[in-house]
Formats: sequence, C-alpha cells, structure tokens
Amino acid sequence: GSTIGILGGGQLGRMLSVAAARLGFRTHIYEPAANPPAGDVAHRVTTAPYSDEAALRAFADSVDVITYEFENVPTAALDLLEAAKPIRPNRRALAVSQDRLEEKAFLTSLGLTVAPYRSVDTLADLEAALHGVGTPAILKTTRLGYDGKGQARISDEAQAPEAFAAMNGQPAVLEGFVNFTHEVSVIAARGLDGSVAAYDPGENVHLEGILHTTTVPARLNAGQRTDAVLLAARILNALDYVGVLGVELFVTPDLLIVNEIAPRVHNSGHWTQNGCTVDQFEQHIRAIAGWPLGDGSRFADVEMENLIGHEVARVPAISVEKNAALHLYGKGEARPGRKMGHVNRILKPAD
Ligand code: ATP
Ligand code: MG
Ligand code: MG
Repeated sequence: GSTIGILGGGQLGRMLSVAAARLGFRTHIYEPAANPPAGDVAHRVTTAPYSDEAALRAFADSVDVITYEFENVPTAALDLLEAAKPIRPNRRALAVSQDRLEEKAFLTSLGLTVAPYRSVDTLADLEAALHGVGTPAILKTTRLGYDGKGQARISDEAQAPEAFAAMNGQPAVLEGFVNFTHEVSVIAARGLDGSVAAYDPGENVHLEGILHTTTVPARLNAGQRTDAVLLAARILNALDYVGVLGVELFVTPDLLIVNEIAPRVHNSGHWTQNGCTVDQFEQHIRAIAGWPLGDGSRFADVEMENLIGHEVARVPAISVEKNAALHLYGKGEARPGRKMGHVNRILKPAD
C-alpha cells in the first residue's frame, strides 16, 4: 500500500491518520513536538524540527504524497519537500492562507467580500487605519494566529497603543468589526480531476475566539446556501486546489463576508464524522490520493461541541448520553484553551 506523509501531528493529523488507515493507507507524521496526538494512530512518526534537512529528506523519501494539518510550515522546508514529492493542497493555497493580507487580496480578486481592512506595521499606521475603518475593530497579526491568538479588539481609538503593543512587533492587519447575525463555514473538497463536492454549511459559535459549537443545518435561506457553496467552489478552482478546504463566513442581512480560509480539514467540519457517509477526513485522503471524491451528503442534523481544557471532565456524563459520539484526542494535560476532544450529537435524521 502507499504511504501518506502528514506535516503536523495534532488532532487533525490523528483523525486524518484514522481515515487513511480505513482506506488501507499508512501515514507518516512529521512533527517537531514530542508525543504528538497523531503518533498513537500513525504508522510512523518523525520528531524533528522543520529546519532538519536530513529528517525532511528521509520523510519525503518514505512517502508517496505529502499533506498537512498545520498551515504554518516554513517555506524552506516546503521547498525541500516539494522537490521530492507532491504536496497537496499546493504551495499557493498554503501561501495565501498563511498571510491574512495575501488572503484578503486573493479573495477580493475573486470578487468576494471581506471585512474592511488596512495593513499595520507601525502605531502611526494603526491610528491612520482606525480613521479608515472606524471602531470597533480587530487588530490581528498577519501570520501565525489561530484560536483567536494574536488578536486585540479595539472599541475606542485610545486603545490603539495597547493593541499595537499586543502584536509584539509583528506585521498586523486591522479589520473593521463585522456586525454579523451569525457565523457559518463551508467545508468543501476538490479532487485531482477538478471535481468539487461541498458539505452542507454549518453554523459556528465561538467563545473567546475559539470554536465552541457547529450545528447543521445552519440558518441560511436557499440563496445564501447556494452562495456559500459557490464561493467555496470558486476559491477551490482559483487555487487549483486538491483536498479539503474550510471557508469561514460572516452572515449579514445583505451578503456573506469571508472571514478566512483554512487549507485543510477544519474543526467546523468534525460533525461530518457522524452526519455523512464520507466524512471530511476520508474526503481529504481520497482527494490527495487521487481517488474519486466520496458521497458527502448529510443524513442527520448534528451539533458538534468542542471539549476544551477542563470541559473534558464532562466525558463520563457525555459517554452515557444517547445519540452522542465522542471523539477524544489522547492528549494528556487539560490546559486552558487546549482542544481535548469533541462530541457529535445526532439531533434527528436530516429532512
Ligand atoms: P481560527 O484560525 O482558529 O479559526 P483565528 O485566530 O484565525 O482562528 P479568526 O477566525 O480571525 O481567528 O477570528 C476568530 C473569531 O473572532 C471569528 O470567528 C469571529 O467570531 C471573531 N472575529 C474575527 N474577526 C472579526 C471581524 N472582523 N468582525 C467580527 N468578528 C470577528
Ligand atoms: Mg485562522
Ligand atoms: Mg477563524
């Protein structure tokens, strides 16, 4: 059988490995940190930094195709890997989603709408940007942010120095605060042959910048649902994408505003594990392996709840709930903000 190389060994790499194993593949995880959650279920793990050229070369030699569950892999490591084996999704998808400014420019070039934004490198830039986009606003580091980290909310111009200091000298982007009614995301896939399949959009609730629940179906009218899926397909085609992509959207009365894209399986797609015949993890493995995309139609209404930090203490109670499927990541310590697992609750059969 063939081997799939996965950059990153967190819970997404773990669930990708399980899906890969189910289709008869082996996975080889490359992860700088020791004892990664994916290590328990993968065929092989390399623990080495992304600067270790010999380890990267050996990893590439041992696999047939390379994918990632983590988008902040350094460029030099990708250059080296790409010379040896195909990387799917491709480098451009990764570059665009690694940098919020590039991402917004790309989305705008497709005619999609993003929040008003300005690039911020200095405090003077921030003050000027605040005049442009107004308050409230959110200052975000351009790179490396996740789970709301590297962000500062600004409700008043007087907070500019404090927000700027919170960026720790990193390039940033100021975004106008979008007055959304709710948030949804589209999880979509594109195969090697260019075919596209999208899951039904889910509705997302965040707590303190971290995803808390995803519920399907999302509250969207027929027109919004079509728009959401079509815009995801446009992004996939424009990037000549292969694999699963997550598109986070703000819903406003007039239009859908794109928050950000993630070039990988996405937390808001975990409900597919118990609501669809082929879930997002299998779909990603199928796509990058050059298989036909699978049947992603939804047979149930589902609510996914993340178990973050000490919430994992609720597992014994959840384990006796009816219609609840637990997914635990085998992580040790329940630190605040750490994603320990999730539960998919089947609400009812889909209409
Ligand atoms: P992740 O990659 O884990 O989804 P992140 O750190 O990239 O998170 P964002 O998606 O940019 O963070 O923001 C997290 C949440 O903060 C959003 O889902 C939304 O609830 C809120 N938020 C971010 N930007 C805006 C904005 N411009 N207007 C209103 N709310 C926002
Ligand atoms: Mg993000
Ligand atoms: Mg986000």
